[in-house]
Amino acid sequence: MSETVHVVCAACGAENRVPRTRLADRPRCGRCKTSLLPGTPVEIDTRTLERLVARDGLPLVVDFWAPWCGPCRTMAPMFEAAAQTLTPSVRLAKLNTQDHPDAAQALDIRSIPTMIAFRGGREVARTPGAMDARAIVAWAREALS
Ligand code: ZN
Repeated sequence: MSETVHVVCAACGAENRVPRTRLADRPRCGRCKTSLLPGTPVEIDTRTLERLVARDGLPLVVDFWAPWCGPCRTMAPMFEAAAQTLTPSVRLAKLNTQDHPDAAQALDIRSIPTMIAFRGGREVARTPGAMDARAIVAWAREALS
């Protein structure tokens, strides 16, 4: 029997069990058929963030950003490029702190962009400021190793 990983669907919240050996095969949600690990950062709200942190079996890196923030917009394509490299061993998500200020407040985020790495239900690292794709990948691997 192969080991399975809990993968929470960012679209509908369903918990999927995916064999670890199948994570790279673009698994889809059993309920809503959305791609679970699309290789691009998924947009999440506060509730989905809480669910991913608490219930998902994969390490998670979240970019906290806002539309009015210039460095955030500069970093967006870098974060997308990093997602291609890190998926499926790490999930990458983006949370718009203008639309969801409660998440930024709960996590005491003082400047954006800020990236936070979560593993095993808790924050393991955070870093403020924009980074290029290579630095994001290196930081995530170091934080989650
Ligand atoms: Zn779903």
